[in-house]
Amino acid sequence: MNVVVLGSGSRGNAVAITSDDVTVLVDAGFSPRALRKRAAAAGVDLSRLAGVVLTHEHGDHARGAVALATSAGCELYASGGTLSRLGSAGRAIGQLETVAVGPFWVSACRTRHDAAEPIAVCVTGPEGEKLGIAYDLGEAGVAVRYLLRAADCLVVEANYDDVLLRTGPYPASVRERIAGSHGHLSNRAAAELLAELWHPGLRTVVLAHVSEQCNRPDLAHAQVRGTLEPLGYDGDLLVAPQDGALGPIVVLRSVVAAPA
Ligand SMILES: [Zn+2]
Ligand SMILES: [Zn+2]
Repeated sequence: MNVVVLGSGSRGNAVAITSDDVTVLVDAGFSPRALRKRAAAAGVDLSRLAGVVLTHEHGDHARGAVALATSAGCELYASGGTLSRLGSAGRAIGQLETVAVGPFWVSACRTRHDAAEPIAVCVTGPEGEKLGIAYDLGEAGVAVRYLLRAADCLVVEANYDDVLLRTGPYPASVRERIAGSHGHLSNRAAAELLAELWHPGLRTVVLAHVSEQCNRPDLAHAQVRGTLEPLGYDGDLLVAPQDGALGPIVVLRSVVAAPA
């Protein structure tokens, strides 16, 4: 399957996953017009949209979701809490439930974030290739680590740098919210999570939701690289931009030789 991050950050998030010319979006945090424009620029065809999966109801993830799903005639998938907060119909995904969406299998688990019922998402393609997406979470609990195990590609939040958050422009209350257990992952926390999720079949890591106020792409990249490389990680380490698309990333099912 091909993965294109259509944009990631506090001004909007969307990930397009395509296989057999069918696309599923995880999050649609831009207007429908902006989503179509970004998709067209990145070579993603939204005319065959099988579903829109939402991690949570915050505007930077859900802004265009209902309108896009309605106009495309496809289902909206999210936790029951997210659907009711949006006041929208859709297919509720339960904790660690797996649902078929087009050619994909989508499973989800609850995360810790200041939203109604936020989830991390795992998308498995027709060949068994596995993509994990976890952003907007204050800390990664056992369920998230379980959901994202053995992924071939991971999109993980590296929201803030500890020093830049402390010295940045936000008032103390906002800093506390971001760094709290229901806020966002720091570069350091992302590196720790990725070190735990590392396995020889992990080929691509995308750092997402990088704050423009309290982080820099090079800081996030350096922190994670410094943690993953000593473990033997030699895959791609990418940072998703806010204003443009990243990809297509070709995700294949890893075939890892058993130790001799
Ligand atoms: Zn967000
Ligand atoms: Zn959020």
